Amino acid sequence: MIERAVDFERLRWMRCGTCSSEWHANAEWLDRFHQRDEACLNCGTNCESEKRPDFWASQDDPSHDDSKVRETFWYHTSTHPNWPDRAFDPTATITDITKRRLQEIGGDGRGLERWATRQKAKALHLGTYEAAIENMLRRMTDQNGADEQFYLYRVRLRRNASIEPGVHPERANMAGDVQLAELCAAGVDVLRYVNTHEDPSSVSLAVRLEAILAVQVIPVPLAVNAADAWVSAGAARLIEAARLPAPEPKTKFERMQRHRPSALSIEVSKMEDEVADRLPFGLRDRFHRLFDEENLSAEPAAFPSKLIGLAALVNDPLAVLGLLDTVPSREV
Ligand SMILES: [Zn+2]
Repeated sequence: MIERAVDFERLRWMRCGTCSSEWHANAEWLDRFHQRDEACLNCGTNCESEKRPDFWASQDDPSHDDSKVRETFWYHTSTHPNWPDRAFDPTATITDITKRRLQEIGGDGRGLERWATRQKAKALHLGTYEAAIENMLRRMTDQNGADEQFYLYRVRLRRNASIEPGVHPERANMAGDVQLAELCAAGVDVLRYVNTHEDPSSVSLAVRLEAILAVQVIPVPLAVNAADAWVSAGAARLIEAARLPAPEPKTKFERMQRHRPSALSIEVSKMEDEVADRLPFGLRDRFHRLFDEENLSAEPAAFPSKLIGLAALVNDPLAVLGLLDTVPSREV
């Protein structure tokens, strides 16, 4: 099996939507591009144009080769400890009211059944290690997943998985409700697309469950040694901050705020900045508000090890891959 080298600071491959020029860009260039201070070097199209330059998969990416796709380890992060689950019942987590509403769709009393079939046929998403970790961080900060237990999956595809030719642009609804049957020829198990959000310009896969041969899984972040100097000092800082009252508002804006940040959450934000400063430039924005306010107040001393554990997934991927090597494989 092929294990790709992990590099969160990889140069990104760009293609201009206007003139089709292609080039490599680093995180600093992309930052300036998104602030309209850079544009396509050939035709001058900037980020405001509908035909703007966007991430694209380099021709050198080995994932253009079908046999390489099948021989490579792919990754996925999930809050489910038993993913992918063939016995998954999409109706198990919806309310009776929602069930009745779905049941009425179509007027033939089979609406719920059609909805469940569609849910079960949704494509699963696999990507690089970097894409899987970035996806988890995004869910933690954007979707109230801060205190959920996540699992990292390493995935092997079947040797006979059928792959749609080409690498395709990421569609607007790609992360959500993708039905391979609607995008590919009948019988296709794997669709390659350019990931423009996580590990941008890498190739990700939308796959049918049947394309997956086996998975290995570990809970993430990994446990951190509580005796680590930064972790124990951090715990002491947060226990102290939890005892302090919220700081008095100083500016007019602060006086108008209905919810003033607590001394604890201010200290946690400082701590996140300290850790983010040692991460690759493009990932620093992801290290904010990785906590749930209520759980944080209940157990402030637990946060520093979580934060260091999350940073280690980025800074020390070899330890993570080494641990995955020790875990038995489960056939799907
Ligand atoms: Zn151009």
